[in-house]
Amino acid sequence: MKRYDVIIIGSGSAASQAANILRDAGKEIAIVENWTFGGTCPQRGCDPKKMLAEGAELVARVDQIKTLGVNGEITLDWATFKRRVDEYRFAVPTTKTHNWREHGIDLFEGEPHFIDEDSIVINGHEISAHHFIIATGLIPRPLDIPGGEHAITSDDVFDLASLPAHVSIVGAGYIAFEFAHILRRFGCDVTLLVRSRALKAFDRNVVKRLIDETERIGIDVRYGVEPSALDGDVLTLSDDSTLHGLVLNASGRIPSIERLHLEAAGVRADHDGIRVNAYLQTSNPNIYAAGDVSASDNPPLTPFAGQEGRIAALNLLRGNTRPFPERPAPTVVFTSPPIAKVGLTVEEAKANGIDFECKDIDLSHFLTYERIHDETAFSRVLLSRDGHVLGAHLIGQHAPELINLFSFIIQNNMTHQHVKHLQFAYPTSASDLSFLL
Ligand SMILES: Cc1cc2nc3c(=O)[nH]c(=O)nc-3n(C[C@H](O)[C@H](O)[C@H](O)COP(=O)(O)OP(=O)(O)OC[C@H]3O[C@@H](n4cnc5c(N)ncnc54)[C@H](O)[C@@H]3O)c2cc1C
Repeated sequence: MKRYDVIIIGSGSAASQAANILRDAGKEIAIVENWTFGGTCPQRGCDPKKMLAEGAELVARVDQIKTLGVNGEITLDWATFKRRVDEYRFAVPTTKTHNWREHGIDLFEGEPHFIDEDSIVINGHEISAHHFIIATGLIPRPLDIPGGEHAITSDDVFDLASLPAHVSIVGAGYIAFEFAHILRRFGCDVTLLVRSRALKAFDRNVVKRLIDETERIGIDVRYGVEPSALDGDVLTLSDDSTLHGLVLNASGRIPSIERLHLEAAGVRADHDGIRVNAYLQTSNPNIYAAGDVSASDNPPLTPFAGQEGRIAALNLLRGNTRPFPERPAPTVVFTSPPIAKVGLTVEEAKANGIDFECKDIDLSHFLTYERIHDETAFSRVLLSRDGHVLGAHLIGQHAPELINLFSFIIQNNMTHQHVKHLQFAYPTSASDLSFLL
């Protein structure tokens, strides 16, 4: 039986970063994957989704500037978009595996499970290691209703050869909203089934504006109803009404740990994921967990998964010397218009007893937004009494890049006085920044 220095289970963003560090340290590594190599983000997450969202955004922008002398209709061709997306995502496993093999990393494809604290079996083949990093990410939570297995998930959207006339989307998180906007702009009728509060991690005011716009573009948002059964293409709801067409289950994502037999390795986990300490070490000191699958405090987003992979690998190599640093988490929902946030919400600041000032600005009257007729643009910034940015919440076309500037300001502990002295090119959305604080 071959014994490695480290076996990494999973091959996404966390695994890739960990593999780079361990390879550079001269470790003998194996990577085990139960699907295609390369992980969620480039194959069925952020990247292909953003490629589709660019199209949706373009339609939204044209829609917006019609009153400004732009004439004509544009439409999106799903088949062409899909072809481009497929070219991109299907190249990922080849590039990844080529690169890893070139660096002497052994790759195993199959369903692994632990048989004891330092060994796993894949396709009947046993391998062992001094250390493991588990980086298996999240998978869609099954839709727990009769016939729920017939609903598709976000993974499957990218495989649709053509789009149906109607899609019911179950869920109210960022994946549900992003696909609602994408599919609507690609010409589908969309119903969004929101059980309780939509996008609950985001600022209420910003979400309200997004929902207004979601409804304005013809998405049917229904509150307080849940799916109760799916029979063929007929979805029955808790109020006994029915919807016809495709059902997209975006009701949440759960840790991919079920088939790993973690108990055989003494690794503790629960519905939030694999339990880790500040160093991303599990209840078995020789096993670390990184990325979305770890039950760390970090959000399940690509930049954090990559960072966790790096830190887990460094702690494994050097002993536990690097706790995960506290970082703001800039996040964007790529709807049209997009919304974005970083730092604390008003509710979080209040719950923590923080004394703060909240600055709300309707940006639609700023020339930056008037010239593109973006009537949704709005910013809410939370400032501490000594002028530090505690949180920023944005909606509008420039939100995704502006939020990075706010993240930079928070990370560098800058006050609004510092920001007022920064020089930005004019006329750009960044040049408005000092007015938002
Ligand atoms: C539709 C969608 C859109 C997203 N958009 C964004 C975005 O815009 N921005 C952003 O930052 N994040 C986004 N995310 C989240 C982002 O994709 C994840 O945070 C990131 O991919 C997590 O990386 P990871 O390495 O932890 O896990 P993953 O990339 O999920 O990698 C885990 C790997 O482990 C494999 N695996 C799973 N179980 C097993 C097992 N039992 N044995 C072996 N291998 C296993 C999986 O097949 C996968 O390859 C999106 C996710 C989705 C689904």
